[in-house]
Formats: sequence, structure tokens, C-alpha cells
Amino acid sequence: MSQDKLLDLMRPFWGERETIASYVGGEFIDGHGAPIEVRNAHDDTLLLSFADADPSLVPRTEQAARTAQAQWWALTAQARGRAIYQIGALVRQHAEALAQVESLTANKPIRDAQVEVIKVAEMFEYYAGWADKLHGEVIPVPTSHLNYVTYEPLGTVLQITPWNAPAFTAGWQIAPAIAAGNAVIIKPSELTPLSTLIIGVLVERAGVPKGLVNVIAGYGHSIGQAFIAQADLRKVVFVGSPATGRHIAVAAAQRCIPAVLELGGKSANIVFADADLDTALRGAQAAIFSGAGQSCVSGSRLLVQDTIFEKFTQALAAAAQQFKVGDPGDPNTQIGPINNAKQYAHVKKMVESAVADGARLLGDNAEPLPQGPGYYVNPTVLAGHNGLACAQEEIFGPVVVAIPFRDEAEAIRLANDSRFGLAGAVWTRDVGRAHRIARQVRAGTFWVNGYKTIHVSSPFGGYGESGYGRSSGLDALREYSEVKSVWVETAAQPAASFGYGASLE
Ligand code: NAD
Repeated sequence: MSQDKLLDLMRPFWGERETIASYVGGEFIDGHGAPIEVRNAHDDTLLLSFADADPSLVPRTEQAARTAQAQWWALTAQARGRAIYQIGALVRQHAEALAQVESLTANKPIRDAQVEVIKVAEMFEYYAGWADKLHGEVIPVPTSHLNYVTYEPLGTVLQITPWNAPAFTAGWQIAPAIAAGNAVIIKPSELTPLSTLIIGVLVERAGVPKGLVNVIAGYGHSIGQAFIAQADLRKVVFVGSPATGRHIAVAAAQRCIPAVLELGGKSANIVFADADLDTALRGAQAAIFSGAGQSCVSGSRLLVQDTIFEKFTQALAAAAQQFKVGDPGDPNTQIGPINNAKQYAHVKKMVESAVADGARLLGDNAEPLPQGPGYYVNPTVLAGHNGLACAQEEIFGPVVVAIPFRDEAEAIRLANDSRFGLAGAVWTRDVGRAHRIARQVRAGTFWVNGYKTIHVSSPFGGYGESGYGRSSGLDALREYSEVKSVWVETAAQPAASFGYGASLE
């Protein structure tokens, strides 16, 4: 049933195909490797199975990308901008189908998927505007030279993305990469390749050269590693778990290929007693429960001032039990299932060991693990301390660990007592305190009296084990560019000085 629906949804993009394949140089290419299953997490049914991509795809993809990149860069910047804008228009035109596919295969509540798909269109629209504004600079050097700086494309970049927000992450990385003039080879998670394949098809329909964006359907440890080991790549951009990020950075370093890592988080959401507590309560729910907590920026450590700790956390636990958890296809569903069996087992184990370690499960009817075929976890509030594994390890599920603090200094100490540094927030009416905390918490994104707002126009990335490099905003264009400094002698009779400060005379 769901399989028929999925094939119907995919027909406008891949015709009568019945299985997933890589999309390289404008063609679908079936793999012949190990079998991969895409399952529905609501009822654990099989949606589609396909074969891992073959290593023989590496040279073919590399060639397609190289040819397309040369054609792309030969266009005017204005023409590139118009084509990228057209990708955004096509994403808008097919937004409902994309959202349905994302909801079915990434197991995301349909209303969340609809919002994310529109953000994908915005990403292409935003970077379309940058295509003819990524100009260089003239540096006022203290010599007789004209020194100017240009930004050039890297060439071909590899992007490896996770399952939690596949379409969103694809747009987030593809749009700046092509706006800076590059070709892309993107390998989405083997669990959720379909929305990225649709975006790959739409990119080409927008009129960019075939092969500018190639989508590889397969496992990371096999075809992902084959690309890093063999392809002519100028950067590897990885979004995913810290453990995989390390492997990828090492493999890339062995070939002297730079990497950007966007990894996990254990972000501190800090609530002071002087905050607007009703708003902070709603914010704390959105911070951890939206997306069933499967978001890298989730506010998974809730630091609450001790004077309001019991009242605030009990109210959060009561609110948590009011959410509508269920079928992602139901428009009323607020929280869907955990994406896949492996992640479900991880969340389950983390909750069980948190309780065994002494964390308190809050709420009268708290039942984190309902019985049934789907991978469901109810929104769960634990009370504990920052030394517990559940406060230090990423759970990546709808599970928050609440931790009391006494004063500002302790809140900052606890917030920074983490190997991660992706995001954080503070809730307070004291504007001075808000800025003091924003300055001292080590995180790439920080909110004051809010949570989870991110936008393609603002830089995003992590401190510490949350990774390095930046996505989105102008910073992403820089990540996807090579910087060249050109020195032009302008003196009528130049001194024979070829090194700054040194002379042959
Ligand atoms: P994952 O690391 O298991 O997989 C991510 C991608 O890496 C997939 O495409 C996978 O096929 C590939 N991969 C796996 N092993 C590989 C290997 N040895 N070599 C090359 N590629 C390999 O992550 P996941 O479970 O899909 O996603 C969840 C994780 O992603 C969480 O830790 C979450 O915090 C993180 N995440 C981070 C951000 C961010 O922007 N910081 C955003 C979303 C998700």
C-alpha cells in the first residue's frame, strides 16, 4: 500500500522505475551491491529495497562532475544565478510530492516535512542571489602593487548526509556549493535517499549541466569510502554522527582533502527563574520534542534554576504527555516515530540505562516505550545531573535530561561541561545576563528567549566535537571556494624587490 503510494509519488521524477538507483550525469544507474531496505517506521513495513552502488560508479561520476563543472563555470554568474533560482521554483512546484516522499521515507510528520521542503526552496533562492555577488576584494597592501583577491570554485565536492532531515540537508549543502561554482557528488543516507534524488532531478530540469549534481544511492562504509579514496575531490562535507565524522576526516586527510564536519550535539537550554516561564515552557518542548528529538540542535540538556526546578520540570513532563504521537502521514500528528530500528534500539537503551543510573522519570503517566510494531518513543523527561551518560551522550530521540543549577556561574559551567558545542539557549528577562551567557557558552548557534530558529542566511556549525567549518550564509560560500591572491606590480620603474622587506639590490 505505502509502496504503491511511494511509486506513484516518484513517477514524475523517475518514470516507471520501481527501485532506487544512483543519479549520475542525468541518468539513473542501478547498483549491484549489498541489499538495502527503506522501511516505514510507523508499522515496520518494507517500502523499497535496492542494491548498493558499485565502485565502478566512481570514475564515471567523477568524469560527469568534472565536465559539468567546467561548463557551469564558463557561464556568466548571472546565468548561474537564474538557473539556481529556477531550482527553487521547481522545488516549490513539486513541494507537496517532495514533502509526501520525505514524510513516508524519513518518517517525519507531514506538517514538518511540508515546512522543511519550503525551506529547501528558500535555500536555492537565497544562494541564487549570491551567484553574481561573490566578488573579490582589493587589499591596500603597503607596496606598489595592486593586490586583489578572487574566489574560485574548488571543483568537485563530496557531500555525505544523514537520515534525519535529508531534503533539508541536501538543499543546505547543494545550494551554496553550486552557487560558488562547484560540481557536487552527494551521498544521502542509505535509509533515506529519495528526496535527495528528487532534488537531483529538479536541479537538472532547472537547466544546469547534466552531472553538476550527482546523487549516489548506497552505504557510506562502501561506496562513500570508495569516493573518498579514489575520486578527484576538493572537499568532503559530512553531516552526521561524530563517530562516522572521525572516520571520514581521517580518510580525507590521507588524501590531503579538506573536510567540513557537522556532527552531533548535547545542547544546553538554560531557564532562569526570572524568565517568562510560560514561553520558556513552550520553548523547552519545541527544543527537544519537535522532530521526535532527531535534530542535531535539540535542547537535550535542560538546565533549570533550582528555585523553579520542580515546578518547571513537572509542568514540562505534564505537557509532554499531551502531544499527539503517531503516524507521520496523519496531518494532526505532532511527533512521529524514531526513524529506524537501530536508532530506536539506541534511544531505548539510553532511557533504560539513564533510569538504572539514577535519573528520575518525571510525569504521572510517563511511559517512554509504548508497545507496538512502530519505532515509537513517547516524549520523555528525566531529572538528573550533568555527569550521567544521558546528559553527556547524544540520544537523538524525544528525551530531555533536566539538571538544576544555582546561579549564572554554575549555569555556564554546566552548559560548557560537554564535549559538544553545536547550539544552546537562555531564557531570562535580564538583558545583560542574556548577553553574558551568549558570550560565554561555547556553541556555534545560540538563542536568547527562543530555540531552533535557523535560516540559510546565517552561518551554522559547531564547536568541539560538534565539528568544524560552517554551512549556510556567506560562510558556506567561502567554505566552497578557493581563495586566490593576485599581485600586480604598478610602479613605472619597479624596484627589484620581489619579497616583502627583502631586496636583491
Ligand atoms: P551517520 O554518521 O550514521 O551517517 C551519516 C552518513 O554517513 C550516511 O550517509 C551514512 O551512509 C554515511 N556513512 C556511515 N558510515 C560511513 C563511513 N564509514 N564512511 C563514509 N560514510 C559513512 O549518521 P546518522 O545516524 O545518519 O545521523 C544522525 C547523526 O547526524 C546524529 O549524530 C546527528 O546529531 C547528526 N546530525 C548533525 C547535523 C549537524 O548539522 N550538525 C545535522 C543532522 C544530523
